[in-house]
Amino acid sequence: MDFQLERLLNLPNITVFTCQEQEGFIVLKLELLNEGITCPHCQSYTDHIHQTRSMLIRDLSICGQGVYLHLPRRQFYCAGCKKYPTEPLEFVEKRRNYTIRYEEYIYERVKELTVEQVSQNEQLSPHQVGSIFQRIALQKKKSWGEPEKLSLDEFSRQKGKRNFVTVVSDLSNSSLLEVIDSHKSSEIIEVLKQQPESMRANVKEVSVDMWGGFKKVIREVFPNALIVIDRFHVIKLVNSSLNQLRLKLELKGLKNRCLLLKNYVDLTPEERSDLKLLLKTSPCLSIAYELKEELRDIYESSTTVLMGMRRLKKWLNSALILFGKTAQTLKHHLPDICHYFINRTTSGVMEGLNNRIKLILCQSYGFKNFEMMREKLLACLYL
Ligand SMILES: [Zn+2]
Repeated sequence: MDFQLERLLNLPNITVFTCQEQEGFIVLKLELLNEGITCPHCQSYTDHIHQTRSMLIRDLSICGQGVYLHLPRRQFYCAGCKKYPTEPLEFVEKRRNYTIRYEEYIYERVKELTVEQVSQNEQLSPHQVGSIFQRIALQKKKSWGEPEKLSLDEFSRQKGKRNFVTVVSDLSNSSLLEVIDSHKSSEIIEVLKQQPESMRANVKEVSVDMWGGFKKVIREVFPNALIVIDRFHVIKLVNSSLNQLRLKLELKGLKNRCLLLKNYVDLTPEERSDLKLLLKTSPCLSIAYELKEELRDIYESSTTVLMGMRRLKKWLNSALILFGKTAQTLKHHLPDICHYFINRTTSGVMEGLNNRIKLILCQSYGFKNFEMMREKLLACLYL
């Protein structure tokens, strides 16, 4: 009918017969240009049409208006094998009501927006949007590759609540590999054991926090991997103890908090003199502060496991008096903490990834469907 319209539509082997508007949608009635097909069963050519049905297929919008393609679905008769093959179409898969490119489009939109937003924009139900997304996500599913360094971490699905998901990432490229709807070691093990054994055996290091459950997981799932307690979790724990001491001493205020917790090297000359005054108020606080800075120095300047271990043991002697429970915890995990000094492996590089995980979890709160949330995280954050 209209060459320009066909060019705009850019689908192979069709001509636009009519174009109408129905209930706010553009409906394009299409005709197919080929007379026959190659039989998919015996590869012989047939142009013997047995019957023709028509169907409505949703396609990409034109100028913001939804589009349906009114398409003939032709069933041929093949004299070669006496079968009745339905004509395959390049741009729509069997038994789908959407063109392939429309499903791809919906998938990409869900990566940016919530299912509800896409559903409203496209006049589809949330269920339709969700099922298109999951279908395409499944097609795109990739393997883990051969990661050598992993990180295991947990995130709460809802801020402040204790409904955790466990996240596995590849430390070499900050790529998200798996999201598990549990924080129980037995359930994490069950999911991770679905990965091929040879790949799991190849993992050399896993970076984790001090939750005991992760050690059990690593021993079971990654038998050849070294457990590395992440440096940033250690520092975080000590910082939190120092901060508690500050509060006990009633040295309130954000400024005091920043002065104590920031690295000394990052303070301005003015902040340094403020800090000096602050530390004068309590000898205990002053020693605790020195310990915090010393820990950082141990991490920065120890070059071997032995050296790191020796210095940390010495550090712990004083820390046990001031940081009590925190120091006990660190003492308990000391060997795994010191594995850091082998390759200086840390999840610190994951900060960007972790922030995006938190953002997506926050956006998709209200999602009862964990699988959908998992697919979205993997679609957005798997490299
Ligand atoms: Zn045939």
